[in-house]
Formats: sequence, C-alpha cells, structure tokens
Amino acid sequence: MRHTRHGWWLEEAGAVTPTRPLEGDASADVVIVGGGYLGLWTAWHLLALEPEADVLVLEAEICGHGPSGRNGGFCETLWGDAATLRERAGDAAALAVCRASEEAVRGIGAWCEENDVDAWFREAPMLRVATTESQLGSWADTVRAAAELGAPEEVVELGADEVRARCDSPLFLGGVAYRLNATVQPARLALGLREKLLARGVRIHERTEVTKLLREGGVETRAGRVRASATVLAANSATARFPGYRLSLAVASSHIVLTEPVPEVLEELGWTGGEAIVDSRTLVHYTRTTADGRIAFGWGGGAMGLDGRLSRRLELDPEVVARTQSSLTRFFPQLRGRAVTHAWGGPIDVSPTHLPIFGSRGRVHHGFGFTGNGVGPSYLGGEILARLALDRRDERTRLALVDPPRTLFPPEPLRYVGGSLIRRALVAKDAAEDAGRAPGRLTELVATLPRRLGLRLPR
Ligand SMILES: Cc1cc2nc3c(=O)[nH]c(=O)nc-3n(C[C@H](O)[C@H](O)[C@H](O)COP(=O)(O)OP(=O)(O)OC[C@H]3O[C@@H](n4cnc5c(N)ncnc54)[C@H](O)[C@@H]3O)c2cc1C
Repeated sequence: MRHTRHGWWLEEAGAVTPTRPLEGDASADVVIVGGGYLGLWTAWHLLALEPEADVLVLEAEICGHGPSGRNGGFCETLWGDAATLRERAGDAAALAVCRASEEAVRGIGAWCEENDVDAWFREAPMLRVATTESQLGSWADTVRAAAELGAPEEVVELGADEVRARCDSPLFLGGVAYRLNATVQPARLALGLREKLLARGVRIHERTEVTKLLREGGVETRAGRVRASATVLAANSATARFPGYRLSLAVASSHIVLTEPVPEVLEELGWTGGEAIVDSRTLVHYTRTTADGRIAFGWGGGAMGLDGRLSRRLELDPEVVARTQSSLTRFFPQLRGRAVTHAWGGPIDVSPTHLPIFGSRGRVHHGFGFTGNGVGPSYLGGEILARLALDRRDERTRLALVDPPRTLFPPEPLRYVGGSLIRRALVAKDAAEDAGRAPGRLTELVATLPRRLGLRLPR
C-alpha cells in the first residue's frame, strides 16, 4: 500500500508544472489566498461577473494539492444540515440555502460539461445508512425538516432491503436517500479549474505563502506585498492561523483507503449505480466507487490539529489508516484478500455549526468551515465571495451562510486538548456500538459534550 500525503486522485490526474512563485511586489483588483476549490471557484465567478477583473491567486503549495485534490469526491448539497439551518435561520432561509446548494451541484456538472473537463462527474443519490441499531432513525430530524420545508422528495427514508438492493453490505440496516448528489474525481476537478483559469489569463503564483492580511487591503508574502482592493481568504484549516480567525474554527482530519479495481465485487454487491454512501456515526465512514471499479473508503476519525497548523498526523497517520482498512472489510467482507493500494489523509476545517461560514471583515472576505462537505458548497461559496469582493449584493449574499451569528471555539490549547478528548470518547462510543455494547457513562457524557455546548462536529 502506498501511503502518501497527496493520494491516488492526484496521481491519477497527472502531474502539473508549478507556476512561478511571486517575487517582489504586485497589485490586483482582487487577491485570493488559497488555490483549493473555494479560491478557484471564487476566481471563476469573479470573471463571470466582471470579465475584466484583475484577479491574482496565491497558493502556498500547488493548487488543488490540499484537501480539494484528495477528498472523497462526494459532491453534496446542504440538505443534511436542513434541521440546523431551520433552527438557526428559520424555514424560508433554510430552504433558500438548500436550494442554492442544489444549484451548486448541478452547476459543477454543467461547468465540467461546458469546459470539457472530465472530472468523472456522476449524478446518483447519496445514501446515509445505519450500521448499528443505535444509528437507526438518527436521520429523523433531517427527513422531517425536508418534509416540513415542502421538499419531502429530497431526503427519503429507505428500509434495509431498499438500501441493500443498492449496495449489499451485511452491515446495512436501513437509511435515507438524498435525491441530488454526485461523485467526482476530486483532483481532476481541482486541476481542471486551475487549467481553465490559467487559460483565461488569471495570474496564479504557487509556492507562495501569504504571511499577513493587510488592513488597508492586500496581503504580505515572504517575497513582497500585494496591493488589492479586496482580499479573499480561502485557506481552509489554515484560516485559523490568521489573527481574528483563531477561534472561528477547529481542525480535525480524515483518511481514505483505496482498493485495487474490483469490478466483480461491485457486481456482487449490486453497487453499480454510483451511489455515495455514509454511515450515521459522528465520526463517519464514507465510501464510493470509482470510474475504474475501485472502492474508496474514508473515516473522519483522524487526529485533531493544533492552531491551524498542518502536522504530519493529519495527513499520514498509519494507525488511522489501519482502522479505516479494517472497517472497509467489515463493511464489505467480499473484499477479503483483495489489495488496498493507496492511503492518504488531510485536514478538515470544522465550523462550530457544521455549516460553512462566509462573510467580510473590512476588505477581507472569508470562507471556511466546510466540515467535510466542501466539494459542492465551495462552488456556492465562490459565488458568494466573488460578490462580496466586488461589493455586489443579491440573493446569494443574503443567504443565511453569510455573516451568521458568531459561535466560537475555545482558545488553544483548550481547543486541541478538549477536541482530542472528545474525539477519543467518540471513537470509544462508536467501537462499543459496533460491538453491540452500550458505551460507558463517562464516554457517553464526553461524547455528547459538543452538542450540549451548541457545537456540531463533523457528521
Ligand atoms: C480525506 C478527506 C476527505 C474529504 N471528503 C470529502 C467529500 O467526500 N466531500 C466533500 O464535500 N468534502 C470532503 N472533504 C472536504 C473537502 O475536501 C474540503 O471541504 C474542500 O476541499 C475545501 O476546499 P478549500 O478550497 O476550502 O480548501 P483546500 O483545498 O484546503 O484549499 C486551501 C488552499 O489554501 C492554501 N493555503 C493555506 N494557507 C495558505 C497561505 N497562508 N498562503 C497561501 N495559500 C495557503 C493551501 O495550500 C490549500 O491549497 C474531505 C477532506 C479530506 C481531507
């Protein structure tokens, strides 16, 4: 098994030649910090709104080589957050966000088509399943929210037989289907966007780390200053490194293992419809098939990050990979004896509400907190940030994801220590429930702390 930082998707998509780092001072109308999906979609939407805009993207490594090129490729809507959205913003606002997130999923498919980017975009419902008795019905608030918002078809409850007709894992006890969802080859999407932006003349400087956001507009890098009327901060978990954002998010991590091509196992499972599947733990398992007949299987139970820094364990944790691999064969015993060829991981920017947050502080416009669901919503985030950067207001900037009431995490080292303790309790709770045992009282108490404090962790 090859366990690397960057993983198989980027290998499959093929190497790119890095662009020139920024040397000396520069200027632009809008400077974008970070060349993942959010930064790149923002650049794309900026040009759609203002074709003459002078846009500069600064990326610390290579565009798309962070989580955007390594994720599970679930291109989801925000229907999974409908209940939280209703609670926080009311019914009309919740519905508007969910519908806008549907347009984002469809927008990505249309973009691939129109721009001739083969990112393996494949539309198919997403299944959220129960693999233990305790998970059964955990989706009730989401099903109810969709129904009460007048969209019962968006989240539909399925019995065990209906779930297993789509993917015959012996663990699946029931679930729900999210009607609109797609899967993508994430690195092909990110690198496709990079290539199209370069072709349109957007200046992208890679291997250029932004060290400071300037109050008067623009940024500082190690090599010089960039003057700009607007700055877009799209740095994912590294957002927590910038003053003013330290308490806005926490950093967790997720790892993925990938099998060799196993088309005959997919046939045996009846899993040929391209459905993305998650279970209903707090630290979720998520799995999908690939265009060449592999199974990618991830687990959101990796270590916590400290202060927005990218530590080795967030990307390369052999213990987390071993656990993930063992869960893979529990889900799909038919894979015994088949090779797992690749493993990788990456950081997750956790928002206190589980919802992404967009907004402005002076001339800096930010987006972060995708909490493991950024592939679809980053397209919408790009639409929002492009408008904020151009100071245009419309229905996108009025969405409840923009400048929501602030909920903060505790400061470091409390956030890291507390987060790690809660993570450990959640791992123990899930392991007990997998074994058919009730978790201990202390474990249960610690595991439910975030919810009682009004924080929502990754699904
Ligand atoms: C293993 C894993 C699986 C996941 N699975 C899914 C999934 O199936 N579906 C889903 O929707 N989401 C998933 N996610 C989350 C998803 O990948 C992210 O939400 C999404 O990629 C966020 O895009 P982004 O542009 O905000 O962040 P990124 O892709 O991280 O881009 C941010 C960029 O900013 C750069 N940067 C940081 N600091 C600086 C600086 N100071 N100066 C310049 N550049 C800087 C970084 O190098 C990086 O390239 C997963 C994440 C991981 C790690």
